[in-house]
Formats: sequence, structure tokens, C-alpha cells
Amino acid sequence: MSTARLTIDLDALTSNWRMLDSASSETVETGAVVKANGYGLGVERVGKALAAAGARRFFVAVPEEGLALRRALGPAPEINVFAGHMPGDTDLIAQAGLTPMLNSIDQLLRHVEALPGHAFGVQLDSGMNRLGMEPGEWDALRDIALAQNPTLIMSHLACADEPGHPMNAHQLAMFREMTQGLGVPCSLSATGGILLGPEYHCDVTRPGIGLYGGFPFEEATPVVHLDLPIIQTRDVIPGETVGYGNTWVAQRPSVIATVAAGYADGIHRAMAPNTYLYAGNVACPVVGRISMDLITVDITDLAEEVPETLSLLNEVQTVDVLADNAGTIGYEILTALGNRYKRSYVE
Ligand SMILES: *Cc1c(COP(=O)(O)O)cnc(C)c1O
Repeated sequence: MSTARLTIDLDALTSNWRMLDSASSETVETGAVVKANGYGLGVERVGKALAAAGARRFFVAVPEEGLALRRALGPAPEINVFAGHMPGDTDLIAQAGLTPMLNSIDQLLRHVEALPGHAFGVQLDSGMNRLGMEPGEWDALRDIALAQNPTLIMSHLACADEPGHPMNAHQLAMFREMTQGLGVPCSLSATGGILLGPEYHCDVTRPGIGLYGGFPFEEATPVVHLDLPIIQTRDVIPGETVGYGNTWVAQRPSVIATVAAGYADGIHRAMAPNTYLYAGNVACPVVGRISMDLITVDITDLAEEVPETLSLLNEVQTVDVLADNAGTIGYEILTALGNRYKRSYVE
């Protein structure tokens, strides 16, 4: 079979959730962020596994994602939508029982007019300047919003993956000032914020990337493994070239394997020069350019027989290693994982 195999370890996922849960005290609720189809891993399976592990509150980016999750999880969990309540979202929010995190006066008015009595939360901007009500706006709206009983007030840290960054303490102070004494559950921290320590935990945490095995949760267990089938091998002699643009030239008699996957499957071209495919413990360098559907690999040093597949993602070469190789972040590697992979879930 020439389809690459993506294996998603749901046990590792839930063990990461439990570890992040135990990083905060028992009075803090640990939610789970499953936006972008569970960071590319499949929201249905990921959501069910996390719910079975004990997650009761989930976060998605947009209502359509919330509907998919609601279908998978049934009526019980609270599903919070970061984008809030946009024009055209009302039916979906009502039908799927979603809790929009309202980001502006427009959204607040839209929500209470269209769906009076329907649950909502509020997102505040504490300095990131991306989503949420500004301090001045919140001052003006606070009493109106509180009278409608929001279920959660949240904000988001801009620099939480840099523990020493002064922005963290600044945003914490801003958030405290905006939420003190309101008697509504508060949430400030994603994965990075959880690791900053208890003062950042508030009432509810919102880990995403750490669940899926990514930085900055260094102790995470890797969740994804990716194995690429070898379609063909060939011998090349010194001076022969491999791939588009003739960028790689054989310096010695070499064996080249061609595997089935490429940049159309989320394997960014930029990672080629530093990336290996693994046959067991043996690291075989990618040579030449990564094509849309194919990658060429130097397997000359494989002493044993040529295996059926080579591994791109494993315990050694993690999503963060690939991200470094491509000059990006683990989030982008995960969410770019292609639709063509044959996905299997292990529990
Ligand atoms: C994506 C996101 C999260 C999760 O962040 P991670 O860094 O993946 O843990 C939490 N809150 C908000 C508002 C987000 O957009």
C-alpha cells in the first residue's frame, strides 16, 4: 500500500491531559482545547478520549467545530467557542448548545437579543490585542454582562512559552484587575501558562498543544507517529543527482529510497535539509527537495534489509524537531498533517 500511516496514541494524549491536570490544584478545572479538528488529529476520537479521561469543558475556535464535537460527545460537556457569536451563528449555537466567548459589545448585544438566557462567556483582552473586550469596553459593559450570568471569563497570554517574559506578569495583573471580586469562574492559561505556576491557573485551564505532545510541555509523551511506505529504491553513482533542481549530488555510490508523502501531506519543503527518516534507530537523511507527494532518502547506510516503511515522526524526531527543521512551531506541523494519511488510533 502506498498510503502513509499516521498513528495517534490516545493513551499518550490522555496521560498528557492527566499530567497537566495534576499540575494545578484540585480546585482548578482542567479543560481541553480541541480546535482545528483536535490540532489535526481528529476531534471525534480526541474529544471522546479526553472526555473519558475526565475533561468536562472543551474549547473550539468556531461554532462549526463545536457542532462536530457536540455530535461526538453528547449533551453533557460545556463547549466554549473562542470566536464568540458572529452574525449567522445563532442557529448553530442554539442547536449545538454551544457557549460563545463574547468578544465585543456587538457580540454581547447580538447574543442576548438573539438567544436570551442562553449560556455565554466573556473574553477579555489583557494585552495581546487579538481577541476580547478591551479594559475600557469591559468597564462599560461589565454590569450588563454580569446581569446575564456568564459561565466563564477568560483571557489569553501572548508570551507564556517564555517563562521569564515580563508580559506574563503584566497580563496576569491586568486580568486580575478586570476580574477581581466578580464571582465568575476565570481562565487565563493555556499549556504555557499552566507551566508558569499556580498564580496563573485561576479557576479553569485551557491546555491544547501539551495534550498533543508539543512544546512547551517538555514532559509530554509523543502522541503522533508517522510511517511512510517506500515505493521504490535505486542505486546512484557519484555525480548523479536526485530530485527537482538537482540540489543533491551523490558523493559516493548510494542507495536512494523514494517514499510516499510530500508537502501536500504537510511535510513542509523547508525541513528537507535537516530531516531524517528512521529505519528503527538508523537515521537516513532526506536528500534533494521534498516534492508534493514524494520524498527521497539516502538509505545507503542501512545495513539490514530495506524495510517496508520509514518513520518520519517518532520518539526521537518529534513534531517539535520537525518544526525546528522547518523554521516553524509544532502547532503548525500538527495542524498541517494531511488528509491522505491512513489514520489509526491506539488506546
Ligand atoms: C489555542 C488556544 C489555547 C490552547 O493553547 P496551547 O498553547 O495549544 O495550549 C488556549 N486558549 C486560546 C484562546 C487559544 O486560542
